[in-house]
Amino acid sequence: MTNHKAESITITVVGSGYVGLVASACFAEIGHRVICVDNDEAKVRTLQAGGIPIHEDFLPELLNQHRGGKLEFTTDLRAAAQAAQAIFIAVGTPQSRTGSADLSFVDAVASEIARSIDSYKVIVEKSTVPVYTNEWIRRVIERNGVPKDLFDVASNPEFLREGTAVVDFLHPDRIVVGAATDRASDLLKAIYAPLTSGEYYAAGNRIPGPRQQDEPPPLLLTSTKAAEIIKHASNAFLATKISFINVVANICEAAGADVEDVSRGIGMDSRIGSKFLRAGIGYGGSCFPKDVAAFRNVAELVGVDFGLLHEVERINEEQKLRFFQKVRSALWTFRGKKIGVLGLAFKGGTDDIRESPALDIVQRLIGEGCLISAYDPAAEERAKETIPPGPQMRYVDSPYAAAQDADALLILNDWKEFCELDLERLHYTLRYPIVIDGRNLFDPTTMTSLGFTYLSVGRPGLSQPVDPISVFHAPKKKER
Ligand code: NAD
Repeated sequence: MTNHKAESITITVVGSGYVGLVASACFAEIGHRVICVDNDEAKVRTLQAGGIPIHEDFLPELLNQHRGGKLEFTTDLRAAAQAAQAIFIAVGTPQSRTGSADLSFVDAVASEIARSIDSYKVIVEKSTVPVYTNEWIRRVIERNGVPKDLFDVASNPEFLREGTAVVDFLHPDRIVVGAATDRASDLLKAIYAPLTSGEYYAAGNRIPGPRQQDEPPPLLLTSTKAAEIIKHASNAFLATKISFINVVANICEAAGADVEDVSRGIGMDSRIGSKFLRAGIGYGGSCFPKDVAAFRNVAELVGVDFGLLHEVERINEEQKLRFFQKVRSALWTFRGKKIGVLGLAFKGGTDDIRESPALDIVQRLIGEGCLISAYDPAAEERAKETIPPGPQMRYVDSPYAAAQDADALLILNDWKEFCELDLERLHYTLRYPIVIDGRNLFDPTTMTSLGFTYLSVGRPGLSQPVDPISVFHAPKKKER
């Protein structure tokens, strides 16, 4: 964006992961000066040299445009904290062994900020953290000798989704700001003013998305505790929606109904909404599993029984297992079977493999003696760190290479590229035309009419087990 009238604020973002890097690029895009700090020296060197460590649409464009101008990368948190008016903490908050959020990265950053600041700063929780973290950060900073009037701690949870992170950040449904003082909330309002005023959407070279100048995002001002709870509750609710539709899918499968019809019918109710009602192989990723566990842990700590979240987690685990059993019943035996796999990241559009149900299923198949040929448009390098290539695991560079001479093809995430496959080519590439689709990307009637044995999630006819004799002893398809 250029020529905006809003105030330019100096912002430090600590952490250059999916949230920190996207937030940094987007804050620069809306006119602020941004210093992005990470303690991973190799990552910072990559970023300084023009590299892009994660796969995210529009991120390369924004980084190329703003790097060296409004956006800089450093490992020097002290200097960055001193230069900034607002310091956003966007480091990881992984799950600890007890299920609670591990706040050690946040703690380390808060202590370092405390040792650095010499003028008023607003320290902003961008990471997803449990309620009361705000107070706890305040205490850490005070314990380091910083006077109360030299800082505020605010909460500004992030709702971006990997795969559409830049668009989500610049065209959000809402911006939530939890602050205890006007001074802190005024600064955060000023930071987001180019979005909330609609000014950004009037710019000719804006990143396209759903927001327009006359329909800017609302900024919801709350207490810091409410803001913290909003983030955990949002993710827990979305995970609940996914587990809910997965159980409905299992009912559909048993009853011979199509869950896609059912979820359309449910989603048309404006009280419910159609998003996150896609049946599949369960949720994964770096947020839902840990945030559901962390919110459950928060409930326990404050003495509230949130058994619903236990069920959500249990259903999610069972859904992966159910899909695995579906593959087993289709293939009859596993040992020595050659299986093509499409999708390794936890969903399409990202290279993030954290808590990926796809990787979980691939690991189980390898454990059963299968030979895997896997393709993912972006996640191969990261997946190799978890499952190194070897006799049972081959990484290939196209969906057709994954399908080549395979006994079955599994679809484990929802890259757009997979929806656009040449199905005839896929048919003659496979050794047996069995497609087991964990994301319901194809129409069962079309797939059956093309000669595939097609299994998906929660759709008619799928409760009948595949007759392995008829599939494996059927005449081989014509060669091309
Ligand atoms: P990430 O693991 O991708 O990135 C975290 C970064 O912080 C890493 O680059 C790491 O090197 C850096 N870091 C750790 N300690 C540091 C320190 N002391 N100083 C400087 N840098 C440090 O994490 P992420 O996915 O970006 O998530 C960050 C937070 O945002 C988490 O709390 C997460 O729950 C939340 N969140 C994530 C998403 C998402 O889709 N990934 C969405 C919304 C919110």
